[in-house]
Amino acid sequence: SEFVKVEFSKGALRTKTVEDILTPLKDCFMLPSTAVLDFSTMSEIMQSGYTRVPVYEEERSNIVEILYVKDLALVDPEDRTPMTTITKFYNHPLHFVFNDTKLDAMLEEFKKGKLELLTKPFKFWNSHLAIVQKVNNEGEGDPFYEVLGLVTLEDVIEEIIKSEILDE
Ligand code: ADP
Repeated sequence: SEFVKVEFSKGALRTKTVEDILTPLKDCFMLPSTAVLDFSTMSEIMQSGYTRVPVYEEERSNIVEILYVKDLALVDPEDRTPMTTITKFYNHPLHFVFNDTKLDAMLEEFKKGKLELLTKPFKFWNSHLAIVQKVNNEGEGDPFYEVLGLVTLEDVIEEIIKSEILDE
């Protein structure tokens, strides 16, 4: 069919937030920006099975870039290319969302590339990953942004399918 139509008949997508469905930071497969794309790092990436790998500086909570596995197509492990050479070249945008973003709003956000959804559905599916952050104002110091994990379009769709089934 030409159209992908999603109806929000029940509450789940209006009440659940990205925080409820995210992949927690501790479970994210990520690499430091100091990584070198040698044989061992490239095998590790391939074996992870993920299409996108957040790249952090110093601490895992400080995600600065994102590597797409397809960026590695022309990389020769023998060259021991620094990670940053590749991430700076492709320079994929990072998307951040707040932890309290509702799933319907998140879906709308992801759907901004709507035209692409019709013309290149698979590309669309795979180009949506957002880093979830919250404002942490517990504790003594100034409030700061705390990264909680990541959420992709797949996580949202999974929730839609679940609620569709439960609603029947
Ligand atoms: P992929 O194409 O890499 O499989 P999807 O968007 O299909 O990614 O997401 C599948 C699941 O994997 C989702 O739950 C998503 O949150 C999670 N995910 C995506 N990338 C990573 C990553 N680098 N580390 C850990 N989990 C990830």
